[in-house]
Amino acid sequence: MRVVGGRWSNWSGGVSCRPQAIVAPKDEVELAAAIRKAEGQVRVPGSGHSFNPLNATDGTLIDLSAFTGLQGCDPGSERATIAAATPLWGIGSLLHPLGYALKNMGDIDRQTLGGAVGTGTHGTGRTLGSFSAEVASFRLVLASGEVVHCSPTENVEIFAAGRTALGLLGVMTEIDMKVRPVYKLAERQFLHPISELFRQLDGLVTANRHFEFFWFPYADVAVCKSLNVTNANAPTRHSAKTLRMKGERRTAAEYVYAASNEVLPRLPFLTGPMHRLFSKFMPGQERVRWSHEIFPNTRTVRFNEVEYAVPYQKGPDVVREIAEMIRKRKIVTGFPIEYRTVAADDVWLSPFYERASATIAVHQYWRFNSTELFEACEAIFRGYGGRPHWGKLHTRAANELAALYPKFEDFKAVRRRLDPKGKFLNDYLRGSFA
Ligand SMILES: Cc1cc2nc3c(=O)[nH]c(=O)nc-3n(C[C@H](O)[C@H](O)[C@H](O)COP(=O)(O)OP(=O)(O)OC[C@H]3O[C@@H](n4cnc5c(N)ncnc54)[C@H](O)[C@@H]3O)c2cc1C
Repeated sequence: MRVVGGRWSNWSGGVSCRPQAIVAPKDEVELAAAIRKAEGQVRVPGSGHSFNPLNATDGTLIDLSAFTGLQGCDPGSERATIAAATPLWGIGSLLHPLGYALKNMGDIDRQTLGGAVGTGTHGTGRTLGSFSAEVASFRLVLASGEVVHCSPTENVEIFAAGRTALGLLGVMTEIDMKVRPVYKLAERQFLHPISELFRQLDGLVTANRHFEFFWFPYADVAVCKSLNVTNANAPTRHSAKTLRMKGERRTAAEYVYAASNEVLPRLPFLTGPMHRLFSKFMPGQERVRWSHEIFPNTRTVRFNEVEYAVPYQKGPDVVREIAEMIRKRKIVTGFPIEYRTVAADDVWLSPFYERASATIAVHQYWRFNSTELFEACEAIFRGYGGRPHWGKLHTRAANELAALYPKFEDFKAVRRRLDPKGKFLNDYLRGSFA
């Protein structure tokens, strides 16, 4: 947790709060007592990588740092029990010696497992679900202090609601993840002219286990990236300690990227040339790594972000419309649009609930005002029935969320039953979930 002088803040620096109390329970018994005793709002952050005020509270903030590590792995059922605050960078190193790995991961590995599950964090892959979709069961400490185990056969409603719950139903202490035997991935990055990309996109998404592209909207090429399982040799694995450090260390290219973003508002006419230059230099060499080492990137240049999931077939139209809008309005941004795909799932609040999806993410440097860009993007997403990522910025009101998420009211009913006094609601969440 990022706490300086009693003030908690998130990764982007856009959200901060001064809680009355920060408690760090050592085990489930202390956690239950802390929740029961807490006065006012109780929030439980992971590593603070959400962009919106999910964790902001003037009440009690729970520090879960004691809840880390691998609790067990069942080879028969390909399930691993992982303490909820385990950072994603640590999970690969814990599972690998046992012969297992997560099925998919997102763009970084700085989050905790509980945070990733809590917001429906995802990677890319048409047949692959989000972190929430891969949860087999979990333990949850409720507002009353009671501990429940939730799975497809126990506390079935809480299982359906609790796999993406923004910390609103209680605090997960242990999560059983579906895992698979260890695997290596070959990464290929290449430039593709935009006009051709859209003709071939469905084929590229289908032909590769993972496919995504980044489009600097003033450039006429996209940076494409594919990952596929391979038996080719990979370098010796890094230790967990090295992986932890690697994700924080700024590379020379990132220093240049940060500096470019600092100067862009003063020299807006450089936006087009910079987009073309960034596209040209972004693709790296082909490489092979163990899965948990190749999925995550290092992102040290801070930004804010809006991301929506739209129906898979609509993805190309949405991303084209967004790029056109950015160019027409001459919006200055140093970041590409990111395009990924995610399989449908059955998690009540998942953006992918019963819908195969394309996700489209738009970023803006943290020092820039992102309002015009993000509002214009949201207007486009709205036209396509887009569902917002719960950990990213959005302005959808409760009535709109209810129309987008078929199980929204059912989720709220479970929330009210488990937390009738609204202990886990903060000011931001109350508007939508009370
Ligand atoms: C640089 C960057 C890259 C990103 N890349 C991706 C990406 O590739 N794909 C993607 O989908 N998202 C991505 N995100 C978003 C990020 O994955 C989510 O916001 C995620 O929730 C952050 O995890 P965290 O551990 O920081 O949780 P936090 O942001 O601290 O918390 C998120 C939510 O989870 C809840 N929570 C945390 N732990 C528990 C628990 N034990 N029990 C119950 N609730 C809990 C919190 O209460 C909160 O509501 C990215 C964000 C950043 C900053």
